[in-house]
Amino acid sequence: MKICLIEDDLKLGRALHAALVNAGQQATWLRNAADARHWLCEDTFDAVLLDLGLPDCGGLALLRQLRRQGLAAPIMIITARDALDDRIECLDAGADDFLVKPVATGELMARLRAVMRRVTGTRVAGAPVWEVKDLVLDESARSLMRAGVRIPLSKTEFDLMHALLRQPDRVWTRRELEAQAMPHVEGPVLDAHMHNLRRKVGGDYISTVRGVGYVVRR
Ligand code: CA
Repeated sequence: MKICLIEDDLKLGRALHAALVNAGQQATWLRNAADARHWLCEDTFDAVLLDLGLPDCGGLALLRQLRRQGLAAPIMIITARDALDDRIECLDAGADDFLVKPVATGELMARLRAVMRRVTGTRVAGAPVWEVKDLVLDESARSLMRAGVRIPLSKTEFDLMHALLRQPDRVWTRRELEAQAMPHVEGPVLDAHMHNLRRKVGGDYISTVRGVGYVVRR
């Protein structure tokens, strides 16, 4: 998973970043709201860990702003405050979960997995496998199966399906898909890849959202 960690405390940030990396996650550590706004626009993350007390902007204000701007990734709040009102305010503002400092890294990872299970398709036995209808994408084997039959995909096609299946019902913009699957490619090649994907996977799985991008519906 690609995780964006937003935490200004050096000691905690370092510990959380190390825990995420040790758990095999791809973690980007940012220390203020300005960087967070920039990176969350530039890149796509599977989950966001957000400290409420940031130096340049309240985490809650940032959370509301990110949701207003359409950030779809699950957001888990990290905070020193443990009042019920704070929790309610965060959840109402669009947070998916709430962790109180001091953060135990084991609990953090378990809650991250739980949040990802809630917001994505069925996750099989803790393995990086994504299922939608009769499609099964195995992240570690980089394979896509339809009704038990493997569909050969190019690297770019696999990366596109990976994005789409990881978050079924989420509409991906063309720019987001290009950033996920072909960050170094210039020019309008996305449609050609999507055309090939539909030919290989079957036309019914991937829907076009006119003027926006693509989605795999559950
Ligand atoms: Ca802080």
